[in-house]
Amino acid sequence: NRQIVLASRPTGEPTVDNFKLVEAALAPLAEGEVLVRNHYLSLDPYMRGRMNEGKSYAQPQPLGEVMIGGTVGEVVESRNAHFKPGDAVVGMGGWQEYLRVNADQRGVLQKVDTTHIPLSAYLGAVGMPGVTGWYGLTQIINPKAGETVVVSAASGAVGGAVGQLAKARGCRAVGLAGGPDKCAYVVNELGFDACIDYKQHPDVKSLSKALKEACPDGIDGYFENVGGMILDAVMLRANAFARVAMCGMISGYNGEPIPMSAPQLILVNRMRVEGFIVSEHMELWPQALKELGMLVATGKLKYRETVADGIAAAPQAFLGLLKGKNFGKQLVKLV
Ligand code: NDP
Repeated sequence: NRQIVLASRPTGEPTVDNFKLVEAALAPLAEGEVLVRNHYLSLDPYMRGRMNEGKSYAQPQPLGEVMIGGTVGEVVESRNAHFKPGDAVVGMGGWQEYLRVNADQRGVLQKVDTTHIPLSAYLGAVGMPGVTGWYGLTQIINPKAGETVVVSAASGAVGGAVGQLAKARGCRAVGLAGGPDKCAYVVNELGFDACIDYKQHPDVKSLSKALKEACPDGIDGYFENVGGMILDAVMLRANAFARVAMCGMISGYNGEPIPMSAPQLILVNRMRVEGFIVSEHMELWPQALKELGMLVATGKLKYRETVADGIAAAPQAFLGLLKGKNFGKQLVKLV
């Protein structure tokens, strides 16, 4: 069983040397356990936070242990009455080829149906990132038809879902993404009304001008994935009573400062700014997954994947995700 463990903690930008590939023997199954062959590993921005020692909303990843991560795979051996070989499952299998786990622990493994939905989608649009987009949009922004919703990292796993769900609710959806290819995809494939290439804008003033053109009626809802200059520019275009779902601030994950240049606009615009962690709202996951699953199965919710090949490629792919080298959901194919 090849695994990637956290070898050391990064200071600032992580490097491949923070990770180590190891090989561990697979022990025979105990009663209640199942052996899962992981087919795909999900790489997600939150993993950067886990590499740090400091206190955050999640426990740090212990050194020398298998990196935490969501996986989908197939049960290959079972000593648990609820699972049989051939079952497709999603779980927190970690950065490794096989997962041996006691499947009686609540929520550790969920069976999934791959008849109409591809297995890998359970790590993206019909998984944690999709639910994240759904939660911030429906529970925090809660837009009315005709309102304008803006989302950063719009071509990504979370952002792509946000804009499409907003369109399905009759909103104007405007994305921000890095580069012309990502922007063209957001408009032409995902069906957003507009997408701004933030890399073409050297400062807040210029970006705010682009937002004014893309959002002629102002901004009613903002789904924040990035932080920094993008947030500042959005604040300048926010309407009275705008709602901001604070989902992520990836531009600061390596410890970069992310100052907010005009917090007084929260008051002036009577804005509501709310952070959330999707795993703290498990009670809403079934409702979210029902809508997301239906939309994906019927081809109405589109997504794109970037797939790295083999467990050894995971660290480099993860570093790429933190630099925007991924296009859509970043996965690692393990079989
Ligand atoms: P994405 O698939 O969107 O990939 C990350 C993207 O972020 C990159 O492709 C890149 O897009 C952009 N990016 C990376 N580095 C920077 C940077 N320095 N400055 C600006 N943009 C950058 O990832 P996800 O969809 O999985 O996650 C999106 C956000 O949602 C993240 O902030 C993540 O932490 C957050 N999140 C929060 C959750 C919660 O419970 N609160 C749960 C899940 C995710 P581009 O090339 O367009 O710049």
